[in-house]
Amino acid sequence: MRSLDEFASGKLAALERARLVRTPVVTARDGIFAERGGRRLLSFSCNDYLNLSRHPAIIKAAVEAAQRYGVGAGASRLVTGNHPLYEELESRLARLKGTEAACVFGSGYLANIGIIPALVGNDDLVVVDELSHACIHGGAKLSGAHVQRYRHGDAAHAEALLAEHRGRHGRALIATDGVFSMDGDLAPLEELSVLAKRHDAWLLADDAHGLGVVGHGRGSSFANGGADVPLQMGTLSKAVGAYGGYLCASGAVVDFMRTRARPFIYSTGLPPPVVAAAIAALDLIERDEAHVDAPLRKARLFTRALNLPEAQSAIVPVIVGEAEAALAASAMLEAEGFLVVAIRPPTVPAGTARLRFAFTALHPEIEIERLAAIVRTRVIGRHS
Ligand SMILES: *Cc1c(COP(=O)(O)O)cnc(C)c1O
Repeated sequence: MRSLDEFASGKLAALERARLVRTPVVTARDGIFAERGGRRLLSFSCNDYLNLSRHPAIIKAAVEAAQRYGVGAGASRLVTGNHPLYEELESRLARLKGTEAACVFGSGYLANIGIIPALVGNDDLVVVDELSHACIHGGAKLSGAHVQRYRHGDAAHAEALLAEHRGRHGRALIATDGVFSMDGDLAPLEELSVLAKRHDAWLLADDAHGLGVVGHGRGSSFANGGADVPLQMGTLSKAVGAYGGYLCASGAVVDFMRTRARPFIYSTGLPPPVVAAAIAALDLIERDEAHVDAPLRKARLFTRALNLPEAQSAIVPVIVGEAEAALAASAMLEAEGFLVVAIRPPTVPAGTARLRFAFTALHPEIEIERLAAIVRTRVIGRHS
C-alpha cells in the first residue's frame, strides 16, 4: 500500500531530523562486556544487575528444565501451558515479598497492562506518578479509568488530586514505579501507602528495578524502613536475569488475576527453562547478601566520586539536555571503552536526554573510578 509506506517514511523522516530514530543494535554480551563494531566495551547499559543471566548454576537449571519440560509452554497456562515449576516460582516470589500469593505473567509489561484494567474501569480513578514506566501509563489508559498524573515523587500532589477527584469515582488506584527506571530514585511509598489508606485507594508499586537490588534484594517496599504495598509487581528480566513479570498480593487478588487479567488468560505461558532460571536466581538472591548489596554499593562509589546525590538504586542518570548532546557524550565514552547508552525522548521528557548508568555486582571498582573521572571532566564540566 503506497499510503501506508508514505505514512511510515514521512514519520521516520521527521524523527530523523530530531535525531529520534531508534534501531535495535546487535550487541554481543559477555557478562559485563558488550561488543560493538568489533570493539569490546565495558557496559553500563544492562539491567542484569546481579549478572545472573550468565550464572552457571542458573544456566544449568534452565538446561535441565528444557530437557525435562521442553523449550516452549505450548499454550496459555489456563489451557495446558502450566507446569510444576510455576507453582514453585510463585511461592518463592510470595515468600520473598511477604505476601500470601503471587502470579507470574509473560513479562513485566504484560503484567501492568493486565493488572490495572482488571482492577479499575470506566467509573474509576487512577492516580499515577508522571514518570512511571510506559506500561503503567499504558495499563491505566487501557483500563478506561479517569487518569490523573501527579508530579514526580510528589506525594502531596497525589494527595491533592485524590482529595479533588476521589469522591466522583468508585474504585481508585495509585500506581508508581518503586525505583524509577530512568532516574534511579525511589518512590515515597511510605507516604503513598498512608494516603492510599486515607482515601480508600489501592497502591501498586512496580519493582522492576528494585527486586534483587534495594531493600536487601526484597525490593522497594522493603527499602527505607518499608511500606505497606498491597500490589507489588515487577519483572524477572532485570536483576533476576531471566524473563517474565509477576504480581505479589493477597490470595484473593492473585486468584482474581488468574481469572480476569487478560494477558494472563490469552497469552502463552513462559518457557519452562525461563521459569527454572528465575527460581534458581531467587534462590541466590535470598542467600547471597553480599552479592545482592553490591550494585547499590558500586552506584554509590560513582555518585560519591562525582558529588552527585547519593544513588538510591543501581541506576544513576547524568542529564545533559538535548538528544544530540546525549548521543555525543555516549560516543565519547564509547571511544574510552565504555558502553553507556543515551536515553532520549520519548523514553524521557523532552530536554532531559541523558546518560543512564546501570551498575552491576561485577563492575570493577577501578573502572568505575576511571569512568567517573571522564564523566566529571568531559560530560558534567561541559553541560553545567
Ligand atoms: C523494564 C520495566 C518494565 C517491563 O518489564 P519487562 O519484563 O521487560 O516487560 C516494567 N516496569 C518498569 C519500571 C521497567 O523498568
